[in-house]
Amino acid sequence: MARKFFVGGNFKMNGSISSIKEIVDNLNKAELDPNVEVVVSPSYLYLLLVRESLRPGIEVAAQNVFDKPNGAFTGEISVSQLKDSGINWTILGHSERRTILRETDEVVARKTKYATENGLSVIWCCGESLEEREAGKTIEVVSKQLAALKAQISDWSKIVIAYEPIWAIGTGKVATTEQAQEVHKAIREWLKTNVSDKVAEETRILYGGSVNEKNCGELSKQPDIDGFLVGGASLKPAFIDIVNCLK
Ligand code: PGA
Repeated sequence: MARKFFVGGNFKMNGSISSIKEIVDNLNKAELDPNVEVVVSPSYLYLLLVRESLRPGIEVAAQNVFDKPNGAFTGEISVSQLKDSGINWTILGHSERRTILRETDEVVARKTKYATENGLSVIWCCGESLEEREAGKTIEVVSKQLAALKAQISDWSKIVIAYEPIWAIGTGKVATTEQAQEVHKAIREWLKTNVSDKVAEETRILYGGSVNEKNCGELSKQPDIDGFLVGGASLKPAFIDIVNCLK
């Protein structure tokens, strides 16, 4: 089965009602490659606005979700509330949540299990710090993150993996195509060895970290890069060029 190319836009904690409306208008007017799956992820406050105004065919993702049913969890948002609002995706384990909000591999894995078992699709993020890369520990770190996920997950069909080296996020320092391909290949091999040939073959592995309209073309040609998770550039009209990078 061919893996459908996937481009996610992670708006992070950015935007205002008017700027988000502008992004939605641009997407609604754009000619987007029908062979690419597109998912955009505004902050919580704008999820409904985006879902209600964005054209069908583009999915919307939360940037985080809690792993309990509705109840007394002040400040949290549940999977059922997302689904009730037409939000079928969530990002989980973004490095900003892992580092700033101190979400551990286990917490991220638990949230991923709960979300997927309750019908959400998940963009699950992993990646190493600069210190870890320089110490030659990239594959070890990513394998440990994957192992924590595998300990909780049996159904991988609702998971898209995003490899995002922390040193490349928001820094303008994109991984070289070789660096990215090397880790993507290692992730696929890890899935083959530790999960199954089928999951290795079918799971999309996205690259994230300073992707823009200029570097996306080369990256997209790598055999194990199945799309992108785009931060900064997803707030700009250039996001459309990234979605259309295969054309
Ligand atoms: P960036 O962010 O494209 O701004 O580097 C990517 C991400 O954090 O998902």
